[in-house]
Amino acid sequence: MTKKNTPETHAFQAETRQVLQLMIHSLYSNKEIFLRELISNASDALDRLRFEAIQDDSIYEGDSELRIEIETDEEAGTLTVRDNGIGMNREEVMENIGTIAKSGTRAFLDRLSGDQKADAQIIGQFGVGFYSAFIVADKVTLSSRKAGDAAEEGVRWESDGGGEFTIEASDRETHGTEVTLHLKEAEKEFLSKWTVRSLVSRYSDHIGFPIRMQAEAEEGEAEWEDVNKASALWTLPKSDISDEEYQSFYKYLTHDMDDALCWAHNKVEGSQCYTTLLYVPATAPMDLMLQRDERTGLRLYVKRVFIMDAAQSLLPHYLRFIRGVVDSSDLPLNVSRELLQENELLKKIRSAVVRRSLDMIAKIAKDDPEQYKMFWNQFGAVIKEGVADDFANRERIAPLLRFASTHGEGSEPCVSLEMYKERMKEGQETIYFITAENYQAASNSPHLEVFRKNDIEVLLMSDRVDEWMMAYFTEFDGTPFKSVAKGDIDLSALQPPDPDSAGEDGDKKDSEDTTQSLDADLLKKIQDTLNGQVSEVRASRRLTDSASCLVLGEQEMALHLQKLLEQAGQTVPDSRPVLELNADHPLVHLLQEEEGDEAFSDLSQMLYEQALLSEGGSLTDPAGFVRRVNKLMLRHAPPDQ
Ligand code: ADP
Repeated sequence: MTKKNTPETHAFQAETRQVLQLMIHSLYSNKEIFLRELISNASDALDRLRFEAIQDDSIYEGDSELRIEIETDEEAGTLTVRDNGIGMNREEVMENIGTIAKSGTRAFLDRLSGDQKADAQIIGQFGVGFYSAFIVADKVTLSSRKAGDAAEEGVRWESDGGGEFTIEASDRETHGTEVTLHLKEAEKEFLSKWTVRSLVSRYSDHIGFPIRMQAEAEEGEAEWEDVNKASALWTLPKSDISDEEYQSFYKYLTHDMDDALCWAHNKVEGSQCYTTLLYVPATAPMDLMLQRDERTGLRLYVKRVFIMDAAQSLLPHYLRFIRGVVDSSDLPLNVSRELLQENELLKKIRSAVVRRSLDMIAKIAKDDPEQYKMFWNQFGAVIKEGVADDFANRERIAPLLRFASTHGEGSEPCVSLEMYKERMKEGQETIYFITAENYQAASNSPHLEVFRKNDIEVLLMSDRVDEWMMAYFTEFDGTPFKSVAKGDIDLSALQPPDPDSAGEDGDKKDSEDTTQSLDADLLKKIQDTLNGQVSEVRASRRLTDSASCLVLGEQEMALHLQKLLEQAGQTVPDSRPVLELNADHPLVHLLQEEEGDEAFSDLSQMLYEQALLSEGGSLTDPAGFVRRVNKLMLRHAPPDQ
């Protein structure tokens, strides 16, 4: 039995409380968004009821004219948003607005900087929702009843946005939800019908349901009238839609506070009819990389009836940041998530969505490089997953990629593969790249030395996904890729560098001459000393400045990645790199001349350890390394300083 009229008091979770407080303060300069959020919730509730009614229209309880009503009451100082949608029962109210059970709340709080402007943006990305009501209200009352439940199952929730809320049973004749905002003294402007009306037409003109308000009336019953156009935006001809309308629909759809970066709106007519409206957001949601599934995907409609949110089968994973709507005239209304996976028509729509999305992105790249930079910084790492995931579209994806490079602008990823190919040296038949833990590590890697000397461009990759991507990416436009840190490097086919740019003291020797010989016995002795840590020790063709480096086999995983996997508790395939030594380096000379066994062993070990460190690998015995370095420093320090 439900207890009637005995409100129960519950405390919000600490984190919910914190989010609420932050939101109220950070979003204050954007306070009118609360109305869009409430209308958006109401419209979702209507969508969901209409969907349920496909199976059984008795759920309408005879009231199938779906609508949103907004009412202001000057005397009471309240603004009410009401829908006759699906409604919520007690458990749902508890769950949905009693707690912010959103995963990632903690991570979200951790990301806040204290700078109001920056924080408002993050909060916006988080999706503000129902709680935004507290920006303008000092008390919010929600009453709701789930469609199909009895009137006594109604529920009433109330809170002042502080630490607690109350919840009680409360009879409700009609299904749906009503949210009443008791406006703060300073927010009475939202009692003005005119203000509210203009906000509705700014934010919610093209949601698919009528929004009604009462006309001003001197006396007696006021008439309800529609205040929005109530035609779903994607159903209109493109030429009738302004940029502003596209943007406000985007915000309604995504709860993003910022404008979308761009969109593509297409109608396909013929043997199949469907419409797609796709948006690229300007900023990535903070959980894009972590949370794999929630809130991504498109909204699927069938003949304008909302079917499901976050329909992931409409988008491949690497395009999960694309938002928007797909409306098909041919899918059955009762299509389920499971059926969707199988549906042939849907597969066609999906491949069209992928093409349109990639075209839209390619268009930014072509038309507006500055904007593309912004795009790439937000979503580049995700797009890269597509190289591995979507073989069929690899040729569309590859030109979208951007990398930092030895010939680029610092750490800015701005070099495309096309650019790289255009400036390849005569005789160069390979696209060279290196993967590392971060830009610095890539850019300072000893592996680049011979390439720098010969002025050969190397792409510097430091996203986590890069190593994985490159395992699938063997060539671009007929030119193979090669990691400069793996396998043998042979630059002999290349032209020698321009003599003017060669090193000082007349070092005009050509590129192949970086291989110097080292005595085979010496190499053997070093390898024995290193006791199985490396598979081979050899003279290097890569190094000009550093003493040593480690080289992996073509198929082996980069050392920084091996370290990451190990840290994540995964088993890493056994790999033993090759140690390469620079025969011209004074430390290697020292080694050649060293007669003491212990000193020889220390120095060999150090050359190995340095190489490992510059590769982003981790030392098994860091203290031992420090000891060896100190010993060496003392040995070679000038006496008595
Ligand atoms: P979001 O809408 O982003 O999920 P909200 O905080 O706005 O977050 O709402 C939380 C949940 O409460 C919604 O997902 C929905 O399940 C429920 N809800 C909110 N408003 C309504 C409403 N008018 N009718 C039915 N359910 C609602």
